[in-house]
Amino acid sequence: MELEIQKIDPSRKKPIPTDDSKLGFGQVFSDHMFMMEYDAGKGWHSARIEPYRNLDLDPASLVLHYGQEAFEGLKAYRGKDEGIYLFRYLNNLQRLNRSCDRLVMPNLDIPFVAEAMKQLVLLDQDWIPKSPGTSLYIRPNIIATDPFVGVRPSNRYLFYIIVGPVGAYYPEGFNPVSIFVSDQYVRAVVGGIGASKTAGNYAASLLAQMEAKEKGFTQVLWLDAKERKYIEEVGTMNIFFKFGDEVVTSPLTGSILPGITRDSVIQVLEKWGIRVSERLFSIDDVVAAQKDKTLKEVFGTGTAAIISPVGTIQYKNVDYQVADGKIGELSQKLYDYLLALQYGYEEDSFGWVEKIG
Ligand SMILES: *Cc1c(COP(=O)(O)O)cnc(C)c1O
Repeated sequence: MELEIQKIDPSRKKPIPTDDSKLGFGQVFSDHMFMMEYDAGKGWHSARIEPYRNLDLDPASLVLHYGQEAFEGLKAYRGKDEGIYLFRYLNNLQRLNRSCDRLVMPNLDIPFVAEAMKQLVLLDQDWIPKSPGTSLYIRPNIIATDPFVGVRPSNRYLFYIIVGPVGAYYPEGFNPVSIFVSDQYVRAVVGGIGASKTAGNYAASLLAQMEAKEKGFTQVLWLDAKERKYIEEVGTMNIFFKFGDEVVTSPLTGSILPGITRDSVIQVLEKWGIRVSERLFSIDDVVAAQKDKTLKEVFGTGTAAIISPVGTIQYKNVDYQVADGKIGELSQKLYDYLLALQYGYEEDSFGWVEKIG
């Protein structure tokens, strides 16, 4: 397939934000986007980069009623020697195809989409912010576009990629967050769609997230849907607990999202010779470890924050403090290391980082 590139008329270019401290997240998008369509019997076609614009969708489009869609989230970094770096992007595209399988959507040709994504980032490279911790967020999205109000897989899809500058996740410094353990709501069930990055999971999480925010918490910590006791994940992050000398994270049971940062943290800890296990553990184990002081650190992992140290966990109206509410030593070390890898400063012994410009 050919990739057609239609550049924006210079007079229509949007102003690029100049104050990196005001970027925030997910509000500003660049001048171009990648798009292609799929039709049953024809496959993916009409791949092009064109000026960023509104979509032209029939109001009956399947995605708008039944949520048949999948997305990804990754970043391009302006790092060492003003270079442009991508981190493990093939893993994101592979995960997108797995989400497509679960949502009965056609797979993407990964090498082709990877090339299109790089072309888009390079075309809009002036939008990649330069301050430490900032990046260009990349959002690929597949949506079902059949104009049909009825429950079945679509015969037509639109795939697009938009990109936009995002600020440092911790503009006031790397700080511990407080999380609220939900025993009322669940996010996903084994056998459901929790392992896919698809809209429905996030719609299902909004009410709990809003109630946690109203109580003054940053995020919701989800327990398993069946027994309401095993730790699953937090908000849009996976979660790790350090009990004594062992670092533990929930196994990929099918109801949690297989995070790429999660996998990176596991591999880095193994390389550092730190014992790391993927196993079931319950909120009661966490409470007991906090009480007998073997709970050393808790941190979330995800592309947006990289590492998010947890200072307080509330469960059944009791606050449990972790690491005296401070940043744990391991959390800090992982954060510094992964950040340096992603921006090209750290020697990459994993083959995760690609300099594209
Ligand atoms: C995206 C996401 C993560 C983190 O995945 P990364 O690949 O590390 O960014 C974790 N949990 C949920 C629910 C997510 O949507």
